[in-house]
Amino acid sequence: MDFFGVSAGGGSGLDCWGRDRMQIRINGGRLVDPGHFDGIADILIEAGRIVKIVEIGSGSDLDPASNTQHPEHRIIDASGKIVTPGLIDMHVHLREPGHEYKETIESGCRSAAWGGFCAVCCMPNTSPVNDSRQVTKYIRTKADQLNLVRVFPVAAVSKGIEGKVLCDYDELKQAGAVALSDDGRPVMDSQMMRTAMEAARDLELTVISHCEDISLAADGAMHEGAVAKELGYTGIPSASESIMVLRDIALSELTHAPVHIAHVSAAESVRAIRDAKARDVNVTAETAPHYFTLTEKAVKDSGTHAKMNPPLRTDADREAICEGLADGTIDAIATDHAPHSNQEKDIAFGSAANGIIGLETAVSLSLKLVEDGVLSLTRLVEKMSTHPARILGLENGLRVGQTADVTIIDPDLPFTVNSDKFQSLSRNTPFEGWQLKGRPVFTLVGGRIVYEYAPMGN
Ligand SMILES: [Zn+2]
Repeated sequence: MDFFGVSAGGGSGLDCWGRDRMQIRINGGRLVDPGHFDGIADILIEAGRIVKIVEIGSGSDLDPASNTQHPEHRIIDASGKIVTPGLIDMHVHLREPGHEYKETIESGCRSAAWGGFCAVCCMPNTSPVNDSRQVTKYIRTKADQLNLVRVFPVAAVSKGIEGKVLCDYDELKQAGAVALSDDGRPVMDSQMMRTAMEAARDLELTVISHCEDISLAADGAMHEGAVAKELGYTGIPSASESIMVLRDIALSELTHAPVHIAHVSAAESVRAIRDAKARDVNVTAETAPHYFTLTEKAVKDSGTHAKMNPPLRTDADREAICEGLADGTIDAIATDHAPHSNQEKDIAFGSAANGIIGLETAVSLSLKLVEDGVLSLTRLVEKMSTHPARILGLENGLRVGQTADVTIIDPDLPFTVNSDKFQSLSRNTPFEGWQLKGRPVFTLVGGRIVYEYAPMGN
């Protein structure tokens, strides 16, 4: 796959990072490559690839002399740290083209690298919508020129994400789209969704479904329940999500096409997906850190910074999400990083834009699941790297010969959320001031260091 070729990208030869030339050793970290390896090891990276992995205590070593003889080498001391296959966020909004005041491909890629992500999948609700070869190629070319993290465009299911005319999926796949979604809006017409899933299946693409019954959600602003009543806001019932989850499961059974459920927020949806998986339906699902961290009560404290679609729900829903993560019903954790300007958030709740940024807090919030005993570290790495790669057909893993996309996490480093220091252009986070534990300290893409934690710098 050309996306992962070590020579793909800018095409201008070696850059200031010593790309394709730098030799990197990652020493003494706990390597977690789910299903393959979990132990303390040294990794040697050359020419953008992993060339050697030596388990500590195995009797052999990496031959230290070979490293210091290399003209450009770097040794990273990873003792006490976790070394994982590059994290992949399969659901972000980079906002370019068209909404560059919220985020650009460049600021979004910097935000991703800072957050420990080696790759992101960007949703098509830009302006113009990514429903054509031109827009897909624009995003790919821009990301290649930046040469920060990998950007995989998700193209639209329907032209203009209007749910009326299907896009040309063959053309979009050839231009570099890795999946299809009308995210931000549901495909309300079931016959159209059936046709889309069949066409996507024949091209080995997955439809990512934003599950929302528009007639039930109506003009709701937050979850329909006690807090909405107390605050006097119109509500969105959980059924507006779960009805569409159930429909898409039925369509997957009908068509034998894969379907991936985006941003699961409700207990009813978790139950529906669990039942479908027990019947071997080809369904996968993701949730976002805010759905396993917050509830509808956050609206009282954070106002519009706790407004998103689907909305934060009850504590019972939050618990169901955690159970779904723990038992494998929910395959992936994605951020749904949705940058908005202050002008779109510092207004009346009902009129404010939906969504929060998430790239720079996701790892720290997700590590809490490990601390709380919801997930083992291995299961967490699966949900933030292995499974997104599997769902989208991307290369992944820490094995000799593979592209060196690597995330290094310090699980003990304290992290106080301060959005002023974020790389994202937007500041819409409900986690401002939160004191978290654990954060990414290195992000390597194709053997290049694209982010390195500097204690005084950030
Ligand atoms: Zn969505």
